[in-house]
Amino acid sequence: MPRITQLDLAVVELPESHPAADLGRSVAVHGYLIEHPDGAILVDTGVGFGNDLIDELYRPDRVDLGELLAPRGVDLDAVVAVVNSHLHFDHCGQNPSLFDGAAEFFVQSAEIDAVEADPLYTDRRWALAPEPQRRTLSGDAEIAPGVTVLATPGHTAGHQSVLVEADGRRVIIGAQVVWHRDELRAEVASAANVDPVPELQAAAVESIRRLKALRPEVVHLSHCPAYRPPPP
Ligand SMILES: [Zn+2]
Repeated sequence: MPRITQLDLAVVELPESHPAADLGRSVAVHGYLIEHPDGAILVDTGVGFGNDLIDELYRPDRVDLGELLAPRGVDLDAVVAVVNSHLHFDHCGQNPSLFDGAAEFFVQSAEIDAVEADPLYTDRRWALAPEPQRRTLSGDAEIAPGVTVLATPGHTAGHQSVLVEADGRRVIIGAQVVWHRDELRAEVASAANVDPVPELQAAAVESIRRLKALRPEVVHLSHCPAYRPPPP
């Protein structure tokens, strides 16, 4: 099983109007490093630099991605793939530190559509990798041996998770498939995580069930400590 490390990329302060603000205003933003034999794979890159509106609204306390990877012996040049769970600003912000390099960026086409449709969806400068590096997916895809992107819509229409399988073990990086791990336990689409749109709410519950049905030993999350299913 490749080593999977949580990267504490940022802490943000949610504005009062944020749907998850009731659950706590100060929120951690985690990404994940998968040390795969084919090269380092990142899942999400945190909050980026240079967007005054985001800095004012969310007061991010960021850690530079390269500085987080260096003590683990991973150079930015060694990153072969980035999976953005979705393209909100706190999941793709440090993508640019890997632009014009060798890394491939895996994202669902529905996310690209969302970015194109709404100028406030994210910061496009962070979200959109240069065309030659972009790998746009429509559904599931194995991106390296034992590493499979799973479409898990709900939080956004193009949200995706990552399944890592090796040695008979399964670990999932569920990212923002839920806001809080209790939502995985209860199989609910919370107001904190999913817009009150019936299709998205139904999709969110289906995504939760899909991940649990894979019987992972752990599900790592973007904004909450990991979920560990009870032993069968
Ligand atoms: Zn989001």
